[in-house]
Amino acid sequence: MMRVTFWGTRGSIATPGRATMKYGGNTSCVEVRAGKEILIFDAGTGIRILGLKMLKEFSSRPLSLHLFISHTHWDHIQGFPFFLPAYEARNKIHVYGPPGRDKSFDSIFRGQMDSDYFPVDLGDMSSNIEVHEVRKRIMIGNLVVDHFYLNHPALTLGYRVSDGKSTVVYATDNEPYEGSIHASGKKIDKQIDLPVMLDERFVDFLRDADLYIGEAQYTNEEYEEKKGWGHSPLETTVRFAVQANTKQLALFHHDPQHTDAFLERMVNQARGLVRMYGGKTKCFASREGQTVNLP
Ligand SMILES: [Zn+2]
Ligand SMILES: [Zn+2]
Repeated sequence: MMRVTFWGTRGSIATPGRATMKYGGNTSCVEVRAGKEILIFDAGTGIRILGLKMLKEFSSRPLSLHLFISHTHWDHIQGFPFFLPAYEARNKIHVYGPPGRDKSFDSIFRGQMDSDYFPVDLGDMSSNIEVHEVRKRIMIGNLVVDHFYLNHPALTLGYRVSDGKSTVVYATDNEPYEGSIHASGKKIDKQIDLPVMLDERFVDFLRDADLYIGEAQYTNEEYEEKKGWGHSPLETTVRFAVQANTKQLALFHHDPQHTDAFLERMVNQARGLVRMYGGKTKCFASREGQTVNLP
């Protein structure tokens, strides 16, 4: 069985306050437990609370963790300096992420703890931290973790983790390649085959997942103003989830401007789209603290 818990569901910047109490204000962090393995996807501000919970749960027992970073934009790494298990010498933390364009993943990840930004250096955290650049399939016990490059202004990875029975895909901060072309009103011709083909590859990456954690940061109307920013409108996220026959779609990386009430309307729209496309995907907006069990 896999157990998925959402510790941070917000995109871009943390948004505490009354209007975001239900779905939460912490930025990206998702925990996946499968057997004795613990995987974490992204280290946004939500990872702080996960860390506190782990210290309580494991007390003085050593922890072995695998932290997968999608990319190094602030909202995906900013919680790591506040992840207390990383300060305990008995713990082992593997951190995985994409290579940077001209810097290594290790140096970018460490960069946020440079003394100009933060008082403690990564090297001064006392746990055993090993940083890996993701270049091939990763095996952790009986789990298989595959990766896929998303369409975002930084090199960004989506991850697909499977225990042979259940599959979870974590793929946030992604813009459909087709978006700008369809909206431009251009006729479909050979020139746009490449974007369509790239989107089809993404759909293949999602294929038959039990849970797809995906972003739909914008409504379709908002997306018109924000093309090229590396995020998705609701319509394509839902359509791709249906095309890929995913069982569940968790809307994730909620826009800082979207209140709880607004997100509820977006979920209703998403469910309407699933029906329109004749799909069976169960759709919900991920909520901080929520756990989803996969059989
Ligand atoms: Zn983000
Ligand atoms: Zn980003």
